[in-house]
Amino acid sequence: RAKALGRGRYHIFDSTMHVAAINILELETELHRAIKQEELVVYYQPIVVLNTGKIVGFEALVRWQHPTRGLISPQSFIPIAEEIGLIIPLGNWVLSQSCHQLRKWQRENRVDDSFFISVNLSTRQLTQLDLVKYVDKILDETEISPQCLKLEITESALMENPPVAIEILQSLRRRGIQLGIDDFGTGYSSLSYLHYFPLDTLKIDQSFVKQIDERSTDLGLVPVIINIAEILKMSVIAEGIETVTQFKQLVALNCQFGQGYLFSPPLAGEEAIKLMLSNEYQQLFP
Ligand code: C2E
Ligand code: MG
Ligand code: MG
Ligand code: MG
Repeated sequence: RAKALGRGRYHIFDSTMHVAAINILELETELHRAIKQEELVVYYQPIVVLNTGKIVGFEALVRWQHPTRGLISPQSFIPIAEEIGLIIPLGNWVLSQSCHQLRKWQRENRVDDSFFISVNLSTRQLTQLDLVKYVDKILDETEISPQCLKLEITESALMENPPVAIEILQSLRRRGIQLGIDDFGTGYSSLSYLHYFPLDTLKIDQSFVKQIDERSTDLGLVPVIINIAEILKMSVIAEGIETVTQFKQLVALNCQFGQGYLFSPPLAGEEAIKLMLSNEYQQLFP
């Protein structure tokens, strides 16, 4: 846009911040439209048992299929959706879409009853008690059992308003929904707080997995995080596994579950379920 005003003025308008501001404004308007016109899609990334390679669930990750900009990553529009109050309808949509998809796979006998879908919740969703009502509505509507639904909450979202978060999480837990802490180690939660939250799993943030060095001489903080999870009786998922070394080291450290490009990137629904039913990625496992 600044460019169109001519070469001479280019520098005045080309401050990165100005361009970013234009984009955010455009994205805001377009995001309203995207939700109405169903431009959002859910991708699914397999979560595997590191010992056996069995895919036990999928993480639901939203994308924006923009008519001209292509597939937009959630990192560029989730923060905007949070900002402009669209995260509640957006989050509800992802939850509904994922549960209906799972129900469909169950009906088609492509997954068994133990297979789960893991959905990310944002900070805003976790500060409103309506969340529980909405989850009830979706569970009712789809008739999936609560054990097949897992919700991922980032450490920072938990710490935004711990008493409210605890209350909401307890209501969800009473229904049998599984709860996990996401991006563990990147927020500011104090360790002493952690056991007040009713959590089943801990997700090691990918920045820690990246610290596992290729010669395996340095494992960074991964062993410590796995220990914390064990002490708190939570199961562990490592995210962002890209190399065979990282994978092997995590197995050696007794990390039960993993996710990462080494196994599969997030895929559109049909591709994800086909991958699960094929044995392609299984070559990595003994
Ligand atoms: P997250 O929940 O921590 O999800 C993991 C991110 O890591 C995903 O990025 C995934 O595609 C990416 N990833 C997986 N394996 C690898 C790997 O081996 N290497 C690398 N470099 N990356 C890997 P994605 O899909 O772009 O999502 C980014 C973040 O956006 C998510 O982080 C989550 O915080 C948020 N997000 C995505 N979908 C939703 C949603 O429906 N609701 C909310 N509230 N947040 C969402
Ligand atoms: Mg997540
Ligand atoms: Mg994560
Ligand atoms: Mg992450």
